Amino acid sequence: QVAVEAKGATKIFGTGEEAVHALDNVSVAIRENEFFTLLGPSGCGKTTLLRLIAGFELPSAGDILLAGESVVHLPPYQRPVNTVFQSYALFPHMTVAQNIAFGLEMRGISKAETAARVEEMLALVRLGKLGGRKPSQLSGGQQQRVALARALANHPKLLLLDEPLSALDLKLRKEMQIELKRIQLDTGITFIFVTHDQEEALTMSDRIAVMSHGKILQIGTPTEIYEHPTSRFVADFIGETNLIDVALGARSNGQMGLKLPGGREIAVPLPQGVALGDKGTVAIRPERTSLTRDADRQLAGKIENIVYFGTDTSYFVTLADGKTFHVRVQNREGARMGFDKGEEVGIRFATDAAQ
Ligand code: ADP
Ligand code: MG
Repeated sequence: QVAVEAKGATKIFGTGEEAVHALDNVSVAIRENEFFTLLGPSGCGKTTLLRLIAGFELPSAGDILLAGESVVHLPPYQRPVNTVFQSYALFPHMTVAQNIAFGLEMRGISKAETAARVEEMLALVRLGKLGGRKPSQLSGGQQQRVALARALANHPKLLLLDEPLSALDLKLRKEMQIELKRIQLDTGITFIFVTHDQEEALTMSDRIAVMSHGKILQIGTPTEIYEHPTSRFVADFIGETNLIDVALGARSNGQMGLKLPGGREIAVPLPQGVALGDKGTVAIRPERTSLTRDADRQLAGKIENIVYFGTDTSYFVTLADGKTFHVRVQNREGARMGFDKGEEVGIRFATDAAQ
């Protein structure tokens, strides 16, 4: 069941030379009960897409549908959508309970029903006893919980969250990531979550849309996005990756030859549905590679630098084409191989690690 759909959504700010294409023909369908994340660098159009869904902006072209019905003619307050912003935007002179009750009273909900909803929301966000406090008497994380409670109090069908955790410090942010996920599961409300933090997107989302320059480049589960990036941008933006320029060789039986820097050739599964020339780029994750002194290797180079991380170690190896290749291996006790800086080594990876 589709909760929200953007169809060819386009937003252009300004005109003529000054025109900014904030969103360029974006189409995406977000399912009910989904934790869906818009991920991309600053300025790629994430907030603009949320504002179109909420109704704060009108699309220049295209359509926004909620539960199958176009809503572009509806003002924000008539859409079953609420938004949580990075700045919590709480009313400072009101108590926590009054902040949560505010929207309900505006909608003419009875006093008894409002009081019951406030209790329900305080329990949901685990602020049970703090209803009487003012926002200034709360920590940043607690204020964020109040903002969430206020946005959920009128039981919206859809909650939009625009970088809600980016003002929190790392420890609190991790804690709130788990809390947000729990609240989404408890309420069953569709969440559209915006972040520029790829790790946050990977750990929290059912599906992710990766955006760049007003376009959606790829939509998929965290595993699909991480393990099968379909573009150089996505491979590079999500996690760390080695991008290697290769010459494409013979194709047969669903396999394709790749000529690697240094001259070795490997066979990889032929990608489906893409037009291939005679050159390409493969992406190889550092953690799917290892170092070797054996002849059984795909690449070779010289160790330029070694960085110890406790659980694993990174080796930065300069290849034949002069580029640096990152190999990351887990540190298991007794498995120390003693590779040194300056040593000539081989790099090994399974061919299914090359995307
Ligand atoms: P993000 O949230 O991904 O950082 P935004 O959606 O805020 O990106 O912005 C996308 C692009 O549109 C940016 O280039 C931004 O400067 C521009 N933009 C956003 N809002 C406006 C506006 N009201 N007027 C003009 N340009 C805007
Ligand atoms: Mg933004």
